[in-house]
Amino acid sequence: MTHDQSKAWFARATGVTPGGVNSPVRAFNSVGGTPRFMVRGEGPYLWDVDGNRYVDLVSSWGPMILGHAHPAVVEAARKAATNGLSFGTPTTGEVELAEEIIARVDPVHQVRLVNSGTEATMSAIRLARGFTGRSKIVKFAGCYHGHVDALLAQAGSGVATLGLPTSPGVTGAQAADTIVLPYNDLDAVRQSFADNPGEIAAIITEAAAGNMGAVAPVDGFNAGLLELAHENGALLIMDEVMTGFRVSRSGWFGLEAVPGDLYTFGKVMSGGLPAAAFGGRSEVMAKLAPGGPVYQAGTLSGNPVAVAAGLATLRAADDDVYRALDANSQRLGALFTEALTKAGVAHHVAYAGNLVTVFFSEEPVRNYHEATGTETWRFPPFFHALLERGVYAPPSPYEAWFVNAAMDDAAFETIEAALPAAAAAAAEASR
Ligand SMILES: *Cc1c(COP(=O)(O)O)cnc(C)c1O
Repeated sequence: MTHDQSKAWFARATGVTPGGVNSPVRAFNSVGGTPRFMVRGEGPYLWDVDGNRYVDLVSSWGPMILGHAHPAVVEAARKAATNGLSFGTPTTGEVELAEEIIARVDPVHQVRLVNSGTEATMSAIRLARGFTGRSKIVKFAGCYHGHVDALLAQAGSGVATLGLPTSPGVTGAQAADTIVLPYNDLDAVRQSFADNPGEIAAIITEAAAGNMGAVAPVDGFNAGLLELAHENGALLIMDEVMTGFRVSRSGWFGLEAVPGDLYTFGKVMSGGLPAAAFGGRSEVMAKLAPGGPVYQAGTLSGNPVAVAAGLATLRAADDDVYRALDANSQRLGALFTEALTKAGVAHHVAYAGNLVTVFFSEEPVRNYHEATGTETWRFPPFFHALLERGVYAPPSPYEAWFVNAAMDDAAFETIEAALPAAAAAAAEASR
């Protein structure tokens, strides 16, 4: 494999864009080496600018559950684009997409469309504060809810990858209203309500954590959050930007049925174009402008092309697709176990629904502290051995791996062929 073109483009990119990327994890900082510039995707594969082919286990960080360039999604986007790219008026597609989301997730009675997951969580928090008249928010270490100021404290995803406790530029006042607790620890939540009586507007949690690697909620954790929130007059915000419409047709709610008061969605629901949503109980959503006093808006919100791609993706995501996603994630996990066991590498394959992560530790991981305690230094050589053999993995040990329904036997054969060398590289790694 040669990477001359990617190297040349990365050099150009670093001249005009900070770090050469438009989202930090893409820069390969935690694994080293040159990020690959992708030029095409089809089904389970990506091709880079040097002509190398990869089995894609990132799936654009989640959205591409059907694989790349799915004909029905491309056609829907093309057709919408032909009719004009944006109007700044209501459109019929927005209504259909909202209806599709509401039909899939029972506790969601109304949704508002936005442009990114970050906007969705930012707006949901404003709404929760407006609804309750309170200021404080509880979040969990290692959970990522986009780059909202108040939610960057001890966040997962790129914030974890870069080892940032929080971010300069977030004011003390913004951080002071955020209470950060360990994930999967209900006692900490109970204590926090006792310490801050009448002050907590909402708990925000990933319905199942995917941004410190896949870390499922322990039995009773989400139900306990709901109970504690309601006992104390607070709302529960279920962030399903990653899990929504991926881990089941109804997202994590479809697996556990613990109803949040508010939900945030993104990624899958827009099929790879920029759109996201937040929604929930009518009584809470009624507080939003124009009917209510909590302001929220967007010039391109409900963009007709993004909405068409999202609707086509959800309509194509039938039971067969969810069966394929589950089967593919199990098949990938089994391949990890086989190769790493043979190479004698201590590991734990973690699932949260069909999100999967391999942790270099024998112990199961239940929170961010435990995730950072794993042998993450084994990850860069593991990653690069896969990459060199045509398997594109997430470039960080703190991420979920995202399968898609287009993966076939040939794609799995590529992964299976690459894994022994990757496992050997992980075995030989030193701190
Ligand atoms: C990706 C993600 C976000 C942020 O979405 P963006 O579209 O990147 O702003 C928020 N919450 C969760 C759980 C996510 O995985």
